[in-house]
Amino acid sequence: MDELEGGIRRVTLPLPTRPGHVHTYLLPGDDGWTLVDTGVGLPDAKETWAAELEQAGGRVATVFVTHFHPDHVGAAADLHELTDAPVVQGALDYAQCELVWGNPAWSERIRDWFHLHGAPDDVTAELVGQSSVYRPFIRYQRDPVLVEPGESVDGWELVAAPGHADGQLCLLKDDILIAADHLLGRITPTVGLWPASRADPLGDYLAALDRTIELAPRIALPGHGDPIENPAGRARELQGHHRLRLEETMVALDTEPKTGYELSFALFGADLQPAGRRFAVAETLSHLERLVHEGGAVRYGDGVIVSYTAA
Ligand SMILES: [Zn+2]
Repeated sequence: MDELEGGIRRVTLPLPTRPGHVHTYLLPGDDGWTLVDTGVGLPDAKETWAAELEQAGGRVATVFVTHFHPDHVGAAADLHELTDAPVVQGALDYAQCELVWGNPAWSERIRDWFHLHGAPDDVTAELVGQSSVYRPFIRYQRDPVLVEPGESVDGWELVAAPGHADGQLCLLKDDILIAADHLLGRITPTVGLWPASRADPLGDYLAALDRTIELAPRIALPGHGDPIENPAGRARELQGHHRLRLEETMVALDTEPKTGYELSFALFGADLQPAGRRFAVAETLSHLERLVHEGGAVRYGDGVIVSYTAA
């Protein structure tokens, strides 16, 4: 556990996959800690948390989940059992959480969706297998307290940060942004198009970065990696990165229709493991859909296969 400014504590938990760790934060408040994010629900999650919380001292008043990805929501139910504190989660994010983790048919939905975007059958099976790796380690809290952007939790304002996850919420107080996976220091947060996600996640993300630049927090405490000393500068860098990727996507398009799966090879190379390919296809599609919205690309779909050309 690390002690940060303003009495904030950071608890770093291991992740079995890259980037190998996730940060969670304990925010001090009059009624106790607001615990932001939970780590993956590994079999020893409860014991790990019991030890960390004993070291922190005091009670946990609230467990807050920034978004429904495994490393953030996975141990929410364990923490509720351990602390009896209410779990608070964004309404949109909880709806997607249930849709993905509470739904035994989700793997089928993913399979159909990769197929729709041009992945061959053998590859699709591998991609789906990858998406189930974390499933046994997700113990999200059913019926949490639902919140909306603009509301506050123990004096922290909830700021919408869509893109990496549609319903992701950051927390802002005293110029400190608890950034979840909205801003990361050295890693570029993944922004992908997934089944049942909003239509233009990259457009959402670029706008959310504009909002970060406007808010100009002094420091951002992210879900992975070091604190970010110049959040607005980092937001501009990430916008620049995606503008460049949009140009590269334009270059990869021509007058012959190509699928998101095919185009992911032009943009991310041929040398990817299934886990990498999953994200590559989803990222390629979020860039293609941004281009469709900007008028740089055209989408064709016959209900069997979706493809894209230059406009
Ligand atoms: Zn994360």
